Amino acid sequence: REAKGKLPRYPGLERWNLVEKMGDGAFSNVYRARDSQGVYNEVAIKVVRKFEMNSTQVQIMRQLDHPNIVKLVEFSEARQYYYIVLELCPGGELFHQIVRLTYFSEDLSRHVIVQVAKALQYMHEEAGVVHRDIKPENLLFYPTPFIPTRNPKPRGPDDEDKADEGEFIKGVGSGGIGLIKVADFGLSKVIWDSQTMTPCGTVGYTAPEIVKDERYSKSVDMWALGCVLYTLLCGFPPFYDESIQVLTEKVAKGQYTFLSPWWDDISKSAQDLRYDINQFLEHPWIRESNEETNAAA
Ligand code: ADP
Ligand code: MG
Repeated sequence: REAKGKLPRYPGLERWNLVEKMGDGAFSNVYRARDSQGVYNEVAIKVVRKFEMNSTQVQIMRQLDHPNIVKLVEFSEARQYYYIVLELCPGGELFHQIVRLTYFSEDLSRHVIVQVAKALQYMHEEAGVVHRDIKPENLLFYPTPFIPTRNPKPRGPDDEDKADEGEFIKGVGSGGIGLIKVADFGLSKVIWDSQTMTPCGTVGYTAPEIVKDERYSKSVDMWALGCVLYTLLCGFPPFYDESIQVLTEKVAKGQYTFLSPWWDDISKSAQDLRYDINQFLEHPWIRESNEETNAAA
């Protein structure tokens, strides 16, 4: 099953035995790998061609230390490649779990989104960085037998099909989602404000577009957080259209609805969530969390 013969051999990566390819993003190949020196357990290695890499990604990851953020294990380079050795998240992408389960119960959604929010709170308020690419593909997890108190019931016509296959209960109850980790800092940036990076006195010379850009960029993550929560709760994103033009227009106008029948059973409290990261974590729906959620987060 481990198609070793097919895996490339990268110069300078001799220490790591590649086991399988895990993901291919647009700009990277990611492999599961073992440490031949036996120091680390399995890791994920993101291989990026030098000319496609924004080196701030590694600098930012190096300084981040939070349970809900993928840890950088090691960084090295060869002539053509950068190798980013990362903590392995064995569950893979949250994206695939949404596809598998159709949608998440409110308890499971809360369990997930609280952890993403805590990662953002740490990034925004402590580390002074913004992620700018929060989406289900970049949220990874460790599987645990987390069992929400309620299992999702089918809501819409399409959901009925899946329910017949027993997807809902089987998926959530066994091998569920434990610890969530934010990954992919490829678009991340340092926040340019007086509390963090800007050296005293120079801020007066910073161009307005830079100041504005960074001021808005926290809210970029918050917007994405809301979109992820929406998607978890109902199984489809808040903004969608087959035409990219129409989609862009909808996003630009902030045009979304809580579509019936899929949203009929979802609490009004969940539909009300927005605002900045601290307000988000103080919201009654978030604070409604059960003990299991708090223990895992
Ligand atoms: P890109 O910038 O190309 O999107 P990512 O860092 O998002 O690169 O990695 C691409 C994919 O590789 C992820 O969506 C995920 O499926 C997988 N992946 C990346 N890092 C890890 C990791 N630490 N553990 C498990 N899978 C990972
Ligand atoms: Mg990615």
